[in-house]
Amino acid sequence: MTANEYIKSLDEEPHKKKEFCSICNSEYSEDAGGIKGEFGIMPVVFCEWCFSSIMDMAEQMREPEPCGMSHK
Ligand SMILES: [Zn+2]
Repeated sequence: MTANEYIKSLDEEPHKKKEFCSICNSEYSEDAGGIKGEFGIMPVVFCEWCFSSIMDMAEQMREPEPCGMSHK
């Protein structure tokens, strides 16, 4: 769906306002596990796939625990 088609669909069915994933632009559904949030002041919407991918990526980018820290 292009932006123009989206705006047109809002005019036709304002009560059916749809939101789309900020990353992959697929239809967002809170029921399916999507999430809304803010990056600083920018509102963002993530579908369930992108949200889980972001969480995976964040997990991978975490600093590994220094050797010996877990055994005091
Ligand atoms: Zn997405």
